Amino acid sequence: MNDGDNTPGAAHDNKSGAPAGGSPAVGSATSDGPAVVLCDLDGVVWLAHQPIPGSVEAIARLRAHGHRVLFVTNNSAARVEQQEAALAAIGIPAVGDVLTSAMAGALLLQPGETALVCAGEGVRQALTARGVVMCDDGDADAVIVGLHRTFDYNGLARAARAVHRGARLIGTNDDATFPTPDGPIPGGGSILAAVETASGCAAVVAGKPFEPMAELVRAEVGAAAAQRAVMVGDRPSTDGRFARTLGCRYAHVWSGVTPRGSVVDPAPDLTADDLAAVVQALVTDGYFGR
Ligand SMILES: [Mg+2]
Repeated sequence: MNDGDNTPGAAHDNKSGAPAGGSPAVGSATSDGPAVVLCDLDGVVWLAHQPIPGSVEAIARLRAHGHRVLFVTNNSAARVEQQEAALAAIGIPAVGDVLTSAMAGALLLQPGETALVCAGEGVRQALTARGVVMCDDGDADAVIVGLHRTFDYNGLARAARAVHRGARLIGTNDDATFPTPDGPIPGGGSILAAVETASGCAAVVAGKPFEPMAELVRAEVGAAAAQRAVMVGDRPSTDGRFARTLGCRYAHVWSGVTPRGSVVDPAPDLTADDLAAVVQALVTDGYFGR
């Protein structure tokens, strides 16, 4: 619940007890080491690649205090090095620290399986790294769907046909839209909905808030550290629910898509104006120590 009286730079601890999901309380920095901080990108670090004021310094501050920062994004269209470069361009070194829904989607395929790709370059990169054979037409073990701007009727027909012939249907994410300076535009979930409708099959979805993305985080930092993590996000239906999936805390910021004062569901452990205010709470106000 949000009290709606946030002042600039303020963070509000909504609970003093156990984090969402009933998992053990986050340990103190001294007893368990610095916690992992999982950061959403759009609406937390930047808006359309323009840094949200204070976010770059906040990431540096976390790292200076020994916290591992991972950027957890449902963007499956861009290659990882493009996302790392975009972060570097605003002053955040991030090589090896970006986890995408394309990587999570690749976990749903086994090496040597064949995937029909109805998605962008990020998915092709992740499938290559996984040892998955890719095709654009014909039969496949799975169809994987993500945002791509070349999507058309023929691509929809190929994807639906493969599913009709027995391929599993995987979506990198089910975000209906994503934000741009000109307002929301269709996201990967809109394309996935078309393939689901045409094939009559419900997809397994990889990205936030679902389990494959949680597995990706656990594989990166370990299960115990994942549960001690703090997820910082602006979209409760994605980021807040993802924190629940991981069993970690959720710090909600008002710098993104959620209008200030809205009901945040699931209830966050902390609300703040922006990432800088979250980090102030984490490193100065002893948030990890409770
Ligand atoms: Mg966001």
